[in-house]
Amino acid sequence: MTNLDAAWANDWMHRASALLTEHRMELIDLDRAIGDGDHGENMARGFGFVVQRLDDNPPDDVAGVFKLVAQTLMSKVGGAAGPLYGTAFIRAAKAAEGDLDSAAVVAVCEAALEGIVVRGKATTGEKTMVDAWTPAIDAARTASEAGKGPAETFRAAADGASRGAEETIAMQATKGRASYLGERSVGHQDPGATSTAYLLSAAADAAEAAN
Ligand code: ADP
Ligand code: MG
Repeated sequence: MTNLDAAWANDWMHRASALLTEHRMELIDLDRAIGDGDHGENMARGFGFVVQRLDDNPPDDVAGVFKLVAQTLMSKVGGAAGPLYGTAFIRAAKAAEGDLDSAAVVAVCEAALEGIVVRGKATTGEKTMVDAWTPAIDAARTASEAGKGPAETFRAAADGASRGAEETIAMQATKGRASYLGERSVGHQDPGATSTAYLLSAAADAAEAAN
């Protein structure tokens, strides 16, 4: 039940970069189906810059890592996802005090979702990344309240996000570029919800490795 420290946050970002690069083509294809096809490139490139900056100048606390992620995604990632994930990490940085226990993992994820909602004004059921973050947080909260440690709490979040991403297949998009397709957006998984599931899965992998 080790608390999650700056080394974990750093490892999270390296794993996120690797996982998003591995799934770059899949995210491109998902975004081609209901958007403009740039999501995989945006995410892989953005997190590539993140790890470069982390390697050059590793922050000494979790909040510092999140702040660097936020600044990098804001300045380097175009499209909707850059500002949305950027705002998520700004809020997460503000919520993170010292190392993270399982309650802090929930608080950080809640803060991230708040940032996304403030920025994008989406609610659940609109076929966006909000539909991955919301079940992720519900699952994380349940795990934390059951006395699970931070790694298990992040694993619960990742599994919740992954289920939420799958559930976007049946939804019609009413926010973002995919909403232009109307009913034709139904039947495709949302790219941003999918990248959220990868991001949280990388967090859980790094937390398990830190135990
Ligand atoms: P763009 O749509 O500008 O090309 P990306 O392809 O990088 O940007 O990101 C698309 C993803 O952003 C969508 O799959 C969706 O999850 C997310 N998204 C778009 N608009 C919103 C919004 N208003 N609120 C939350 N998420 C959104
Ligand atoms: Mg796009």
